[in-house]
Amino acid sequence: MRPEILFNLFNPVSNLTGIGPRLASLLEKVAGPNIIDLVWHLPAGMVTRIEADTLSQDLIEENIVASFLVLQHSPPPNRRVPYRISGAVGEAPLTLVFFHGREDYLKRQLPEGQLRLISGKLEDYNGAYQMTHPDHIAKPEDKDALPLFEPVYPLTAGLTNTTFIKASKQFLPDLPDLPEWNDPSLLTREQWEGWQQSVIKAHSPTSPEDLERDTTARQRLAYDELLANQLALELVRRSMKRKPGRSLPGTAKLQSEITSALPYKLTNAQNRSLSEISADLAAPHRMLRLLQGDVGSGKTVVALLAMIQAIESGSQAVIMAPTEILARQHYDGIQPLVEAVGLRCELITGRLKGKKREALLENLANGEVQITVGTHALFQEDVAFHDLGLAIIDEQHRFGVHQRLALSDKGRKENGGVDVLVMTATPIPRTLALTAYGDMDVSIIDEKPPGRKPVDTRAIDLDRLDDVARGLKRKIEAEERIYWVCPLVEESDVLDVAAATERFRYLEQLYGGAVGLIHGRMKADEKDETMQRFMSGDLKILVATTVIEVGVDVPEATVMIIEHAERFGLAQLHQLRGRVGRGGLPGTCLLLYTGPLGETQKSRLAIMRETEDGFRIAEEDLRLRGAGELLGTKQSGLPEFKLADLQAHSRLLNIARDDARLILEKDGQLNGSRGQALRVLLYLFERDNAIKFLKSG
Ligand code: ADP
Ligand code: MG
Repeated sequence: MRPEILFNLFNPVSNLTGIGPRLASLLEKVAGPNIIDLVWHLPAGMVTRIEADTLSQDLIEENIVASFLVLQHSPPPNRRVPYRISGAVGEAPLTLVFFHGREDYLKRQLPEGQLRLISGKLEDYNGAYQMTHPDHIAKPEDKDALPLFEPVYPLTAGLTNTTFIKASKQFLPDLPDLPEWNDPSLLTREQWEGWQQSVIKAHSPTSPEDLERDTTARQRLAYDELLANQLALELVRRSMKRKPGRSLPGTAKLQSEITSALPYKLTNAQNRSLSEISADLAAPHRMLRLLQGDVGSGKTVVALLAMIQAIESGSQAVIMAPTEILARQHYDGIQPLVEAVGLRCELITGRLKGKKREALLENLANGEVQITVGTHALFQEDVAFHDLGLAIIDEQHRFGVHQRLALSDKGRKENGGVDVLVMTATPIPRTLALTAYGDMDVSIIDEKPPGRKPVDTRAIDLDRLDDVARGLKRKIEAEERIYWVCPLVEESDVLDVAAATERFRYLEQLYGGAVGLIHGRMKADEKDETMQRFMSGDLKILVATTVIEVGVDVPEATVMIIEHAERFGLAQLHQLRGRVGRGGLPGTCLLLYTGPLGETQKSRLAIMRETEDGFRIAEEDLRLRGAGELLGTKQSGLPEFKLADLQAHSRLLNIARDDARLILEKDGQLNGSRGQALRVLLYLFERDNAIKFLKSG
C-alpha cells in the first residue's frame, strides 16, 4: 500500500484547479497522468525579464517587466487589424498590440488612465516601441505575478507554458515534506538539499546554468531515481538468493574429460566466468547470472561445462536459443562432445511432432536425456523434466524479461528452483548493465580466443556495388564464404524481402548456383536447408536479410557485405561483422553506404573502422543513441528514467549501487527509520513491485 504522505502526488492532474479533461490529456501526453509526473517534468528553458523604468533601444528584443500607464484604447475597425492600446513606460511611449483582442476583456484588464504591470518582449515597429501580447498583466500592487525569471517547460501542441506554470504554482507549494532517505554524509558531501527543496529549485531556474543536468537540485533528484532503481533490483536479487535453490557441486570428472577432448585451451576469461558460475551452482541458493561476451568470445563451451556440472550432480540441463538455426547449431556443437562422455543430448524445436516428440518428452520426464537444446518450444506445457537443475538462455534480447524466470518453474519443487544462466552476445555498457540487469550477477568474457585476426573493415560508396560484386570472384574460388546483408526497409518485411531478392537475382547472374537467399518470410525448414547448404559450401554467397544476425557460426565465412550500412545501428553492425573471420582466415567487412551521411551515421561507420572491441562500440552506441533505444526498451525491460541520464549521471549510478547494497546489508527488510523513508522512495518512483519482496513493516 502506498503511504498516505504520497496520496496527493498520485492524484490525477485533473485534480488541479483549471485543469479540465482537455488540458489533463495534454498534460498526460507530455508528462503523465498524475501530479507526480508534473513534478518530474522539469523546465528545459527559461525566460529572464529585465525590470525597465523607461524604454531604450538596448532593450529591444528583451523580455521586460514595466509599469505601464494606460492612455488610450483603439479598437480596430475590422478583425484583420489588431487592437492597439497606447500608453507610456516612464516618459517613453509604448503601444500594446493584440490580435483578435476582445474589447470588453481588454478594457477590464487595462483600464484607461491607470497603471498596470506588464511583461513581454519589447519590439521596434517602424521606430516606435511596441509589445505584442504581453505575457502577463497585473495590478501595480501585485508584483509577485510578474517574476523576473520564469521556467519554460517542454510542451505539446495545445498546451501553453502559462498553463503548465499555473499548474506548478499549485503543486509546488503543496509538496509533502518527505522523510529524508539519503545518508546525511552524502547530502553534506554533495551539498544536496532535501527532496522538497530540490524539486522547488529544479522548477525555479534563475540562470541558464540552473537548467543543466549537474545542478545540485537535479543531481539529487536523479540520484533518488537511481537509488530507487538500484534498491529495487537489489531487493529482487537478494530475494532470489534467499529462494531455496539446490546445490549442484558436480564432481569435475566429466568436465575434465570434456575439456581435455577440446582442440583448444580455455581462455582466462572463460575460466574465470566458469568458476563464477560453478560456485553459484554449488551454492544452495538459486542462481540468476548473466554471462556477457562478445560474438565469438566462446560462451558456448562455458555453457556446456556449466551444464555438465549440473549433470554430474544428478540433475538435467537445458539450453534455449531464440531461433531454430541457433538451437540446431548449439546442438551440433554440443551433442558429439556430450555423447563422447556417455550422456544423451536431444534437440527440441517447434518442428518436432508426433511420435518422435512423444518419445522425447518421455525421455525428458524419466531422466534418460540429460541435456536438452531447444527453442521456445521448451516452454510448452507438456514439456516436463525428471529433475531440471540448470536452464541456460542464449541471446537474452530475443526473450521477454518475464520469460527469464518462466523456466525456473520447470524444476522439481522439492529440489528447489532451477538455476538460471542468461547469455548475451550484445556487450552492454556497464551503466546499462547495472540498471537493466542489476537483479542478476554478471560474468564477463572480455577476451577472445587467441589467433583471431582483425577484420579489415571498409566503408564503400554503394555506387561501387558492381566492383564489389565482381571482386568476390577470388574469394569464391578459394572456397571462402560471403554474407551479403540487405537492410530492413522501413520495418516492412515485404519490401525487405523484395530488396534481398533483387540483390540475389543480380548476384546469381554473376555467380549462378553459388548464390543463396535467406529471409524472414521463408519457412523454418527452407531457411535451415539454405543455411545448411551455405555451411557445407554448396552455396558460397548467402544473401540475407538480418535474420542471420544472431549467433550463426560458419568458420569458412570471410566476407561480410552490408548494404546500406548507414541504416544499421552500431550494435547490429558489430554483431554482423562478428560473423566473419572466426575460422582463422582473415575477414573482410564492407560497409556499403549511400550518401549524404548525417553526423551520427558518419560516426557509426568511423567507429566500426576504428575498433572491434564490443564494449567500446556499445559505449559509443549509448553515446550516440541514448539508453532507451540501445536495447530496445520494450524487449529489454530497461527502465526508463525520468530524471537520471545514464551518460551524465554515471558517477551517481555507481554511488547508488553501492549505497543500495550497503543499505540492504544493514537493514534487509527496510524496517529501520531510514528504511521506512526508503520505502517511501520506492513508492515515489513507482517501484511498488520491489516492495513485494519485503515483509510488511
Ligand atoms: P559465442 O560467444 O559467440 O557464442 P562461440 O561459443 O560460438 O562464441 O565460440 C566461437 C568459436 O570459438 C567456436 O568455433 C568455438 O569452438 C571457438 N572457441 C571457443 N573457445 C575457444 C578457445 N578458448 N580457444 C579457441 N577457440 C575457441
Ligand atoms: Mg553463441
